[in-house]
Amino acid sequence: MAQIDDSTRQFVTERAAGLCEYCQSAQMIVVYVEIDHIIRRSRGGTSEADNLCLCCRGCNSFKQDFVTGIDSETGLEEPLFNPRAQDWDDHFEWANDGARLRAKTAIGRATIDRLRMNRDDVLSARRLWVQAGWHPPVRGKFPAQ
Ligand SMILES: [Zn+2]
Repeated sequence: MAQIDDSTRQFVTERAAGLCEYCQSAQMIVVYVEIDHIIRRSRGGTSEADNLCLCCRGCNSFKQDFVTGIDSETGLEEPLFNPRAQDWDDHFEWANDGARLRAKTAIGRATIDRLRMNRDDVLSARRLWVQAGWHPPVRGKFPAQ
């Protein structure tokens, strides 16, 4: 099993500003973040930084080996969001309550569905984070000390 060395792990974490690169949950809040292989090694992905992203345990547990999801609007299979190749803001936005993620594209819909990014327990947690002023994160400014 190819290991991700400490310097690569630190680079990936700092590049992501401590946020899950899918659901934007902050490492400071959710604690459990992992280094995700965007393309899994079993599918030929490497352990180089350009195939790695910071990922909360929730997103990672639903992503598994998948590289596609179903667009709920068309029923078609679409690629999952790739944090290295695409901009988060092009595919996702926060609803007015700050808790629910909205998709702007087919890729966004497929990713929200596959990673269950609006599941009930996460929505409940995000509502509390909004009340605490911790969410949605302002990238580049969070985590504040
Ligand atoms: Zn996440």
